[in-house]
Amino acid sequence: MKITDVRAIQPVGENSPADWRTSLGQILVAIDTDSGITGYGVGGGGLAGMHVVKTVLRDLLLGRNPEEISQLWDEMYQATLAFGRKGIAVMALSGVDLALWDLRGKHEQQPLVSLLGGKPGKKIPTYRTVWDPQELQTISGHAGYKLHLGKVAAPGQRELMISAIEQARSLIGPDPLLMVDAWMKWDVESTIAISQEIASSRIEWIEEPLSPDDLAGYRLLKEQSAVPIAGGEHEFTSAAFGQLIEEQLHSVLQPDVCWCGGLTELIKIYTMANKAGLRVCPHRGCEIWALHAIAALDPDPLAETGRPWMTWVAGQPEVKEGTIELSDRPGFGLLFDEQNLFLVN
Ligand SMILES: [Mg+2]
Repeated sequence: MKITDVRAIQPVGENSPADWRTSLGQILVAIDTDSGITGYGVGGGGLAGMHVVKTVLRDLLLGRNPEEISQLWDEMYQATLAFGRKGIAVMALSGVDLALWDLRGKHEQQPLVSLLGGKPGKKIPTYRTVWDPQELQTISGHAGYKLHLGKVAAPGQRELMISAIEQARSLIGPDPLLMVDAWMKWDVESTIAISQEIASSRIEWIEEPLSPDDLAGYRLLKEQSAVPIAGGEHEFTSAAFGQLIEEQLHSVLQPDVCWCGGLTELIKIYTMANKAGLRVCPHRGCEIWALHAIAALDPDPLAETGRPWMTWVAGQPEVKEGTIELSDRPGFGLLFDEQNLFLVN
């Protein structure tokens, strides 16, 4: 089997981000082969990510055997090393890697969960992310809920945050998990203080209180936070996660498979974290790209609900009564309306 073309588009759906300047400007990568099979993956970086795919990665992949995923990953990483390593180039590479995995599953006529040693059909518990505690009045059935404080996490809004967290706990009741996402807007001092104030609300984790580059700060939080720390949503490659795991800087690791280097890297992260006894809870885990790894590799699976703009990825399983399960369709098991998708770009 040989790769005959590599295509990338940024599909537009209802609620799509306006352009590439958010981490969520997702791109669809399609890899065609001479056997007639096409693999699909989603990466990040929007138009900038598409440019990396079309001008660097495509040239490297044409004529190559798509089954040599690990070798191709290393070559793509090397080809983007001078301007890549983290950020847009690795987000683009992630989409290509996922498309190669989709091809492998389709070629072997197996769902990826089976190739990774698991089985389709297992019910995976989910947690729902909300941006306003009021949303929790009308949602139920999930194993947990995460209050995203991105809009109010600025300095000076501490009382507002604390009361929102307390309100969230009272709305969901005593049993479900409750998490808090600070979206890189706190510092060490405020995280320690807030963790002490919210510990009585039984918070499962505080997510990304600091910049992912502030490893010194995370070393302090590891010792002094009253609530476990989660992170990794904005980290890239298994090498970087290897350091987080080795130093146990996060109790919960949250790689985003569409950004961190694809399934190739997520598998390595799971292997390292499982060995170290740390939890992996992939960002947007209910979206299909991470769900196969969660179902096959996670000893304590918990999938975060997906984002509403990914409506163009047809065939994704839906959350039902708080759980989600994979079909037995080959590869990622998706159904693309290719003609419509590629005509609009
Ligand atoms: Mg987050």
